[in-house]
Amino acid sequence: MKRLLITIDGPAGAGKTTVSRELADRLNYKYIDTGALYRVVAFEARAAGVSKDDDTGLENLCSALNLNFVKDERGLRLLSNNSDITDQIRAPEISMMASAVSARPVVRKYLLDLQRNMGREKGVVFEGRDMGTVVFPDADKKFYLDASQKVRAIRRYRELESKTSQTLEEVEREIRLRDENDGKREVAPMKPADDALIVDSTDLSINDVVEMMLAYILK
Ligand code: C5P
Repeated sequence: MKRLLITIDGPAGAGKTTVSRELADRLNYKYIDTGALYRVVAFEARAAGVSKDDDTGLENLCSALNLNFVKDERGLRLLSNNSDITDQIRAPEISMMASAVSARPVVRKYLLDLQRNMGREKGVVFEGRDMGTVVFPDADKKFYLDASQKVRAIRRYRELESKTSQTLEEVEREIRLRDENDGKREVAPMKPADDALIVDSTDLSINDVVEMMLAYILK
């Protein structure tokens, strides 16, 4: 079968990462988590003391980024300037900072080119917020994965439980704020592409979602 470019957009906690990984595995495709790219910019901006609305600072920082994905026994690792920051970029303060810097056009422009370059080769599942709307409007198959805010908060809380001391209420608040930032920003707001299949995973298992997507892809 022809190798495709597949996009999965949607809000935090909808299950995008798990589903995208599983789908890529089953199709023997590559998987790209574009949220990690925004998280790296946020992480490096924080480390360098660049504020979220300093466009010149952010632009300089983006053009000096040196990112590499490498595989080891733990899975795919992200290196920034040769240091492994895969785990650090998952911290709650980085999630909020990522959401803030992702609203800046200079950051989006820089990452747009980077992501399109990564999509030159087909056989990829791209996960993010604007994959089907802005980055790959001609993608072969598009999905928008959603779930109720409550269920997304519970999922994210369980995922973070061992790593942070955040309460469920704090996680819920963070998700609400990020939904609002990501959905209301002027450039590339989070929304389903007109031709995306919308999947509500509130009452579905990961396997149900993956099976549904595979059926749609192979149709
Ligand atoms: O998906 P993840 O939660 O890791 O994304 C972190 C943040 O990066 C999101 O809240 C969003 O603001 C931003 N993002 C984006 N566009 C993407 C992927 C992520 O704006 N394609």
